Parts: sequence; C-alpha cells; structure tokens
Amino acid sequence: MLKIVLTIAVIAAVYFFLIKKPQVTQHRRKRADDEKRRPKADEEIMVECEKCGTFVSSHEAIIVDGKYYCSKTCAGVK
Ligand SMILES: [Zn+2]
Repeated sequence: MLKIVLTIAVIAAVYFFLIKKPQVTQHRRKRADDEKRRPKADEEIMVECEKCGTFVSSHEAIIVDGKYYCSKTCAGVK
C-alpha cells in the first residue's frame, strides 16, 4: 500500500514539476512583455513632426524610419 502511495506521489510530483514549469515560464514571459509594453503605452510625449514641425502626441504620431510625423501626408505614406 505504501508503495502505491509513494508511486502516486512520485508521479504527481513529476506531473506537477513538468506542468508547472512551462506555466511559470509563460507567466514570466507575459509579465516581462507587459512591463516592456506598459511604459511605452502610458508615456505620452509630444513629438515634433519631421516635415512641418507640428507637435503631435506620440500616441498619434506616425513613425517612419524612426522619425515622427503628424500625419500620413507628412510621413509620405498612403
Ligand atoms: Zn507634419
């Protein structure tokens, strides 16, 4: 009887170990992503349009080749 209990305990431990590990990794990765994304999303800065000099919120600015533009017209994209 004790042997069966031990076997089950070992299997449970192995399952727990195998199943929990990827979840922890995923959870960590997700959190790291969130932390990476959060400052960017919350941080609203005014940036100057490369073409016309208009200041525009970084949320609304169009970024082309690392430069900020106030509109698609200034950015030269359609
Ligand atoms: Zn512009």
